[in-house]
Amino acid sequence: MSQDLEATLAEAKQKILACESAHALKDIERIYVGKKGVVAGLLAKIPGLPAAQRRDAGKTANQLKQAVLQAVTARQGELASSEIEAQRSGAGFDATLPPGRTVRGSLHPITQVTRELEDLFQSMGYQVLDGPEVELDYYNFEALNIPANHPARDSHDTFFCEGDGHLVMRTHTSPVQVRAMERLEPPYRIVVPGKCFRQETTDASHDHTFHQMEGLVVDKDISVAHLIGAMKTLLRGIFGRDLEVRLRPGYFPFVEPGFELDARCPFCDSGCSVCKRTTWIELLPCGLVHPNVLRAGGLDPDEWGGFAFGLGLSRLVMLRHGIDDVRHLLGCDLRFLEQF
Ligand SMILES: [Zn+2]
Repeated sequence: MSQDLEATLAEAKQKILACESAHALKDIERIYVGKKGVVAGLLAKIPGLPAAQRRDAGKTANQLKQAVLQAVTARQGELASSEIEAQRSGAGFDATLPPGRTVRGSLHPITQVTRELEDLFQSMGYQVLDGPEVELDYYNFEALNIPANHPARDSHDTFFCEGDGHLVMRTHTSPVQVRAMERLEPPYRIVVPGKCFRQETTDASHDHTFHQMEGLVVDKDISVAHLIGAMKTLLRGIFGRDLEVRLRPGYFPFVEPGFELDARCPFCDSGCSVCKRTTWIELLPCGLVHPNVLRAGGLDPDEWGGFAFGLGLSRLVMLRHGIDDVRHLLGCDLRFLEQF
């Protein structure tokens, strides 16, 4: 390569290295290797050269073109990585700009109520237990004094799992009662929050999946008075004040006697839409544990007794927040969930 050309190449490299943007680099590239660039000018002169020099001249012009293109590519790489570096190191960060909106999640209203009640019951000496959502027919029905062909099974609208029918999606949290009796040494108090499933036509007050909290106390000389006392404490925890309660007879195969517990409507004095103008709200089914259930759990009903209750967590959340359709709770609609 002639000295002239070497000087040209050195100058080109210097300019390329000085480029601080991809745009400027393109301009330099065009000046040297573009259609009307320096290299094109050299090639255009070749036909006028003596025949002996033409070959060398063509070769050097091509060498210059390749060298320039190489330098451009190298500089492109440098510019790209320094740009990434600048982004990483926060160059261009302006501390005076207002911050962007931070999207924060929140706990689902059912989770909130569950945690509150867990705290409340733990403060009263209850253990929080868990149980399987896919349950054996034995624990869901049989051990709870609901043998095969018992009419109470009809009211449970059960999802049966594939197979021989021994596995069901639990229809209530009560199966954990017997599981707890098998595992724990009495006396004990437990609560079991969790999902339950019913094969129901869904409407504003029924969903195929809902949340319950089962409660069970096993001890000696347990009476209905203990049950009422525990329920009043529960209501005070939920609504923040004492509410009058009443028991109506209710039939549930796993308790005897069984009750429906109603509480004075916490939202009105003379009737409102929540209590359907009766000033009472149906709160939960409860009762003293049936001797057959104690036996299924391996306890002697002559020695041990207990009470149990099934609190509808979904219903409680609806009461607390004035939600009129249970299907909102598991509907995954962000417009609904973002309110909590
Ligand atoms: Zn009311």
